[in-house]
Amino acid sequence: MYAFLVVTDMMASLQEYYDPNCSMLELVFAPAEEWISRSDSEIIEATMSELAKLFPDEIAADQSKAKIVKYHVVKTPRSVYKTIPNCEPCRPLQRSPIEGFYLAGDYTKQKYLASMEGAVLSGKLCAQAIVQDTELLLGRKLKNSQTEVTVA
Ligand SMILES: Cc1cc2nc3c(=O)[nH]c(=O)nc-3n(C[C@H](O)[C@H](O)[C@H](O)COP(=O)(O)OP(=O)(O)OC[C@H]3O[C@@H](n4cnc5c(N)ncnc54)[C@H](O)[C@@H]3O)c2cc1C
Repeated sequence: MYAFLVVTDMMASLQEYYDPNCSMLELVFAPAEEWISRSDSEIIEATMSELAKLFPDEIAADQSKAKIVKYHVVKTPRSVYKTIPNCEPCRPLQRSPIEGFYLAGDYTKQKYLASMEGAVLSGKLCAQAIVQDTELLLGRKLKNSQTEVTVA
């Protein structure tokens, strides 16, 4: 059993795909550990069963309602990190323990999981940390250039 993260009807969201008689669904599901080694046809079969639960009027698992005209399965191992209990403390802060070294990315400490929102928020927190440290960083640069002058 798996959970869809995203179900998008591309026909409805992209004008160039629009066809009044068809839908083009893009689906992402996770966790896919159990599924990644399975055949495309097994994945499609399971997908249709799940879709039938979501859209019982339009879709039946045996394709007696909507029929698949074309499909393409894309497998991306390790595409997003797994959210498991007690993994939260493993997420690093944007300000790393190394002076002048900052981190941004959905995996860093921020209130969302792996998502576009999480990535954007981490970028903002990273920029904030750099701004907060500006004086420290400029002071360090000045100190280094003075050292260089002394050495020269
Ligand atoms: C199939 C799929 C569907 C998704 N759907 C959604 C959705 O509908 N909504 C949503 O909010 N989120 C979705 N996500 C999650 C979202 O895409 C990510 O959470 C987000 O892109 C993370 O952004 P990021 O900047 O942290 O990392 P990334 O977008 O992964 O960027 C990291 C970048 O670093 C590069 N990189 C890695 N290693 C190196 C290296 N050594 N040197 C140089 N460059 C390197 C990578 O190539 C990549 O471009 C989806 C993810 C996947 C895989």
